[in-house]
Amino acid sequence: MSESEQRSGNGLIERLQARISELEVQLQEITLHNRVLLDIARALNASLDPQVIAANIISAFSSLIAIDRASVLLYREKSETFRVIGVFDSSTLSPQLPADFDLAFALKVLHSGEPYYLETDRLHHSLQAWDWICCLPLHSAQRKIGTINIHAIRQTEISNAQKDFLETVAGHAASALENAILYGIVQQESVTDGLTGIYNHRYFQKRLREYVSLSQRRRAQGPFGLLIIDVDYFKPFNDRYGHPFGDLVLKTVVQTLTRNLRQEDVLARYGGEEFVLLTPGTNEKAIRLISEKVRKVVEQTKIFNPATGEELSITVSIGATTWHPSDTPASLLARADQALYQAKQMGRNLSVFL
Ligand code: GH3
Ligand code: MG
Ligand code: MG
Repeated sequence: MSESEQRSGNGLIERLQARISELEVQLQEITLHNRVLLDIARALNASLDPQVIAANIISAFSSLIAIDRASVLLYREKSETFRVIGVFDSSTLSPQLPADFDLAFALKVLHSGEPYYLETDRLHHSLQAWDWICCLPLHSAQRKIGTINIHAIRQTEISNAQKDFLETVAGHAASALENAILYGIVQQESVTDGLTGIYNHRYFQKRLREYVSLSQRRRAQGPFGLLIIDVDYFKPFNDRYGHPFGDLVLKTVVQTLTRNLRQEDVLARYGGEEFVLLTPGTNEKAIRLISEKVRKVVEQTKIFNPATGEELSITVSIGATTWHPSDTPASLLARADQALYQAKQMGRNLSVFL
């Protein structure tokens, strides 16, 4: 081998060794990257609470990028708006989005389905406190979930590798949030009535048992009231105007009642055209007033029937009672039912207290 051949051979070996070292560093980076992603995926799937998931998303983003401000928004399909489930601001422990913050941009990005990044040269210019530096739409196969947003960073660019990482995390975030949303829906459906949206019979029974045992333990907190409300002559009403219109009437009456109740009252659909109302901290005098108020509110609710062009209304009969220290849930319900029976006997559109 000539001297020059020897030299060029050595040069090749050196270059190959340098390349191997380079690849080793890259491999180490990839391994680290994968481990971080695996940790993030685990953390995201460990909770079914959207706010906890949002906090985990923001901390995952912060592990790679020097973020100063970020937010996570959950999309509400019905109203085409967002619920803010996570906000991060490195300058305060109780961060908030500004009151006048415009979410229309996030809506645009979500509908487009394409990640948005502010152009790098604009990152150098002075930005507003809550600008849009990055907005990642979150989609699942079934639905639009929301967006993850970066509003301020302490670096002059987001590299392509960082963008890949952010988008991979966003993919995990979308599925974690979708699980949480589905879980919330199942939770909600198991306690509410499909037609009217108020609590169902099962949930009411559970709350009634809680009220009875709590009142037994803490008599000082006073009695609570119970109403059973039954629509008068609803069978002939349905026969005359049709079941679908009957459904609309039930929904409208429930909406009107809900608007007239206190936050702590529990209104539930007990059966077809029967409702129950639990009112905490209520004595005989108060429950008598409440039952008369309910009766009048229903009587005054007018529902337009497009088929006949009439304004229609229904009436209800109400059985009212209050908890006695010797009561079980069953004895309390039986007394209210007895009162309701008397109201029906006495001609309907009445409330009776027993
Ligand atoms: P009363 O004054 O004695 O209570 O008479 P009523 O006709 O209301 O009583 P009844 O118990 O005989 O009939 C209840 C009717 O309520 C029967 C049914 O058609 C109607 N109903 C029950 N659930 C629903 C519902 O979800 N939608 C509609 N539209 N009607 C319902
Ligand atoms: Mg009935
Ligand atoms: Mg009835």
